[in-house]
Amino acid sequence: MPRLPHIPRAALGPILLASTIVLLAFWRTPPPRPVIAPPSAIQLPPPPERPVTPGEPTPTPAPLTGSYAETGGLDIVSAEGLFSPEEQARLAAELDRALAYVVERFGTSPAGRISTYIGLEPGCGIHGIAYTDVRTVQVFTCRDLPTSRAVNILAHEFVHQLCHDRYGDRHLSADLVLIEGTATWGAGAYWLGGAPNFRAFVRPWVESGAALPLAESYIGRPIADMNKLYYQWASFVEFLIETYGRERFDALYLTGQNYPASADYLGIYQKNFWELEEEWRAWVLS
Ligand SMILES: [Zn+2]
Repeated sequence: MPRLPHIPRAALGPILLASTIVLLAFWRTPPPRPVIAPPSAIQLPPPPERPVTPGEPTPTPAPLTGSYAETGGLDIVSAEGLFSPEEQARLAAELDRALAYVVERFGTSPAGRISTYIGLEPGCGIHGIAYTDVRTVQVFTCRDLPTSRAVNILAHEFVHQLCHDRYGDRHLSADLVLIEGTATWGAGAYWLGGAPNFRAFVRPWVESGAALPLAESYIGRPIADMNKLYYQWASFVEFLIETYGRERFDALYLTGQNYPASADYLGIYQKNFWELEEEWRAWVLS
């Protein structure tokens, strides 16, 4: 029996309290479009994600001030001086489209308005975070980066909120594979860079043996591995939903205990995590 990588409980608090730290999602063009390049042709950029490591102070959802804009479902605040009024208006419209896209893809609407903060990261190390219990998502970026990158990351953060709204507080203790896999899968085209789906995206890694074990935790691993795991987990979620249906996936999501592979796969699918991982590999390659 393979051993679960163990994440100290102390490390999970910061991870799950904030629901997530996101890495990237770096492509410029969102919504669906035809494939323009195989995933193997896509170069992952130097990943600017921020894994929370044990003992490290976490950011806070408040207080945040700046220029305000609102859409049908979002209260948007951007750091003073980060955008011109025109840019701010354009960004608000893009975020509104991103929310509509992920709601359609995920299948349920937010339970209320979402506070969305775009902060300044002077070093341009773009990163995002979701505080789903207080309906707040944040991304930190700088003027040198295209706003589309912030939108891509926020699409992922919005899905974390949709998960909390769909699954309730059990979301906060869900299996990390499912938390991050679902948020990445739900962000769809905002993360796919033109690939048709996550299965196609990760196929080159599985084919070449570069894929990581799905139950791996990103804690303590190189930052690039965190990126890779998010995509692999997204394709695993895609696999579970396409193969076994959404109803069972929803039931599975409610059974986790934070750490990777902790959901009750055996109870829901009558197969343990490693059997399902093998099925996933074969599915990716098929
Ligand atoms: Zn996330």
